[in-house]
Amino acid sequence: MLNIVDAKDPEVKESKPLIVAKNQVSSFRSVDLFVCNVFQPFVPGEVTDVSNGTGNNKPNTRKRAIFERLRNKPLVRIIHTLNNTTHGNIDLTYAAGIHTEQMLDVLKNGYEILNTKVEENTIDRSYLFQRNARRNGAVIPCNTFTPQMFIQDAEAKVIYAKLNSCCRDVTTPLYPSLAVHLHQDLEILKQAVAAIGNGTSRYAYVLNEHPGHHADARTFYGYCYLNYAAIAAQRLQAFPKYNLVGILDVDMHLSDGSHRIFEANPNVPVASIHINPEYDFPYSTRYNNFTGIGKATGTKFNYPLDPGTSWTGYKKHLEAAIQQLIVNQKVQVLVVSLGFDTLSGDPEAAPNSGLKLTPKDFHEMRQCLLNTDVPILFISEGGYNIQSVADAADEFFN
Ligand SMILES: [Zn+2]
Repeated sequence: MLNIVDAKDPEVKESKPLIVAKNQVSSFRSVDLFVCNVFQPFVPGEVTDVSNGTGNNKPNTRKRAIFERLRNKPLVRIIHTLNNTTHGNIDLTYAAGIHTEQMLDVLKNGYEILNTKVEENTIDRSYLFQRNARRNGAVIPCNTFTPQMFIQDAEAKVIYAKLNSCCRDVTTPLYPSLAVHLHQDLEILKQAVAAIGNGTSRYAYVLNEHPGHHADARTFYGYCYLNYAAIAAQRLQAFPKYNLVGILDVDMHLSDGSHRIFEANPNVPVASIHINPEYDFPYSTRYNNFTGIGKATGTKFNYPLDPGTSWTGYKKHLEAAIQQLIVNQKVQVLVVSLGFDTLSGDPEAAPNSGLKLTPKDFHEMRQCLLNTDVPILFISEGGYNIQSVADAADEFFN
């Protein structure tokens, strides 16, 4: 059973009135969905779906597919957040407890500053947007001398240098609507955290645009800009009843960003079940036997799986991870990084890699999680076979 919570969009006059939870606690097996269900029409030259060379990364398409599948389920309440935000309204400060000022500055202002300079002809577009990005209208870092020496404008030089120190790959670009999307994601996250914190939602699902679990305090990459799971965990700790917040990551990829953020923090136990990074992104085996550092030693758990692992094998590790977080660490609330790229045939899996879950397995996964008897905030992560992702989301939330 799924509840989609509806909040009034201050910028949309015809928006439905606020129907938010009204202090009612959702029933045991229902989940409240928080989503910005306004999808940008395709605009030529506008990158609405960021994609790498293979075109697998389609965050807006994924979000829409999941939403379309879930929106007509019983007890639907729809949230409208901002659909026409101007740059002046963009506010990323909700993420400031996790991410550095420099990183938030790049994500909020980077594209606009660089694009303005291009339009003022103080930067040759070919150096910034085509030669480097090879992508229509998107900016990626380049740590070679070529673009730097052709950028004379002081403001552009600074922001481009910041981009080079914040972004760790070339598949997670700055693009025209990025800051709007991040703002929207933080708005719905804020509402979902409040609902879990206040007890008006027992289970909430934040259907954010971009995944987040590879991003750490200072850097973004791997299609992830802001680490929503980490932001949620930190924000939930502001509620006195939630000193211990667990993060359970079931995306196919290692949650390296979440680990880096909380590696020395004993109050945020983290468990990650993922394809062994020997075979797939982020190709860092540092975490295979990682349990945390300093006072946090013994509060981090990793379950690197062999390629081809199916639900039978997966479930054992899921149950072990839940046991560690809920029974041993005694977390009071759970943030679940919910990726769907564990599905068989996910196109983002590296050759001879990948896991073999089916959409139906997600219904069992849901049962395992709901049996934990703690409030759960689900955060959207990866998943690249859009049809299968929608099927799995349907199984998981209904
Ligand atoms: Zn993933």
